[in-house]
Amino acid sequence: MFPDDFLDRILGSSTTVTTATGSPTKSLGSGSSTFPDAECLQDMSIDALADLIEDDSISSAFSGVAAPEVASLLFHDAVQRRLLLMGSQRQLRKPKILGFIEWDRECIEELKLLAAEHDACIHTNIAEFFKPELKEVIEQLRLRPSLALEVLGPIVKAGNAVRGCARCVVHSTGKNMFKMCHLKVAKRHVAGTSCTAHSSQGNQLGALDETILYFLAWCGLRIHLQEADVTQENVSGFPTGPLLVRMLGHLYFIEACDLDPTEFGQLDRTHTR
Ligand SMILES: [Zn+2]
Repeated sequence: MFPDDFLDRILGSSTTVTTATGSPTKSLGSGSSTFPDAECLQDMSIDALADLIEDDSISSAFSGVAAPEVASLLFHDAVQRRLLLMGSQRQLRKPKILGFIEWDRECIEELKLLAAEHDACIHTNIAEFFKPELKEVIEQLRLRPSLALEVLGPIVKAGNAVRGCARCVVHSTGKNMFKMCHLKVAKRHVAGTSCTAHSSQGNQLGALDETILYFLAWCGLRIHLQEADVTQENVSGFPTGPLLVRMLGHLYFIEACDLDPTEFGQLDRTHTR
């Protein structure tokens, strides 16, 4: 649960309930963004904020134990409590959690709890979304990943590399042990794509590392689903232009933000983008 003064910190303590729905005065970088930045939030009424988060839906990839989804639920809870405290009768609909892509076994066990509550899917291997006809190409590129961006990149960008379904561990039960579930289009998608090749403490191989295959699969899924708002988190050394803009710049306005957790009150300092 967020601390009681959480909304005070981002909205200001003088927030009042209004009957007008209002709208954000500016959006985050592009017209396609659905969420405003913190400065903008301070100009919003609690009702306008409630309108913004009502009917939210979210999916994630490589996000471990569902931090983006839990943050959305906690934020929803904080706004709901504020509405009640201010005398509003409004009951907000909870954010819908649509699905996870995650391969860490321990994380998957945690995710199953949320997945059961929201009837969400869990896909455990993003490479399973590559089209079956590319199987040999993918296997060859695993042996020579330095060629992946040149060989597979154009196929991904043309929308021909991935399909929208793969085996889901939530709905594979009993007689149907290999249930193929389709990904659903969320309003927001959040992902922490692999950072090991880009981190100063990693192997420093960048786009030449095998993990580029998983990044390309993730890009292919964005091209396939085209969520309105996508957040991708990585280390500050992640090459936004050569990778993200190259693969998704034709569909999305892309803004890179360098973040430091100390700006949000955390004690540890790590730089992420
Ligand atoms: Zn499923």
